[in-house]
Amino acid sequence: MYGPAPYFYPPIAHGRKPRHWAHARVATCLQPRPFTHPHMLNLVLFGPPGAGKGTQSQNLIDRYGLRHISTGDLLRSEIAEGTTLGQEAKKLMDAGILVPDAVVIGMVENQVKANLSGRGFIFDGFPRTVAQAEALDEMLAKYGTSITVMVALQVDHDTLVQRLLLRGQTSGRPDDQNQDLIERRVVEYRDKTAPVAAFYAGTGRFQEVPGVGEISAIFEGICQKIDAVLAQ
Ligand code: ADP
Repeated sequence: MYGPAPYFYPPIAHGRKPRHWAHARVATCLQPRPFTHPHMLNLVLFGPPGAGKGTQSQNLIDRYGLRHISTGDLLRSEIAEGTTLGQEAKKLMDAGILVPDAVVIGMVENQVKANLSGRGFIFDGFPRTVAQAEALDEMLAKYGTSITVMVALQVDHDTLVQRLLLRGQTSGRPDDQNQDLIERRVVEYRDKTAPVAAFYAGTGRFQEVPGVGEISAIFEGICQKIDAVLAQ
């Protein structure tokens, strides 16, 4: 059985090929490899609500060819489809409270299992608790891969609230339309999600990037961190 090609061969959106690209590709194709995925780029994009994770995920997908797994989007599709899971999740989401770990972990594993032949994943809005982070590590290890790096977007509180209220004018998301609810989500983030950063920092997989300014400049900041990790 042959494993997938390492995600950096051939480069897809950089437009520049490393000098050794041709040799590396031949070698990769000819050598039998175990059926694991150690060469995937698996990225956790981290930050409070309104930090810009969704916006930057789209840019990162284009540059690195990754599969986007957003637990917020997955939950909203369940709501749109009217499933029992969606109906239960909606009550919590409309109150600005996190959905139970087991629910989101199950949804994420379904996505991971179905997309293991790709170049890797961007996890957006997940993990949001330390229990989710532990479950993600275990899950990826089961499939022969792991988180490469967590990149945290740093945005001050007032900017977050302004961005979310602005998004609420067009997104139709009930949780963006009420300042009390936004504050509730920020508290939930501070209490339950912020400790996830320490979990990754403890294993040397944590990088911070300023998340205020031009979208393109923030994006370049994220790419620099990722590329530095890949070059190690
Ligand atoms: P935000 O802009 O607040 O980061 P998301 O779209 O990521 O929004 O999430 C919206 C809501 O969905 C959250 O407030 C929470 O109720 C629920 N949710 C999303 N991801 C998770 C998760 N990993 N664990 C628990 N709840 C989640």
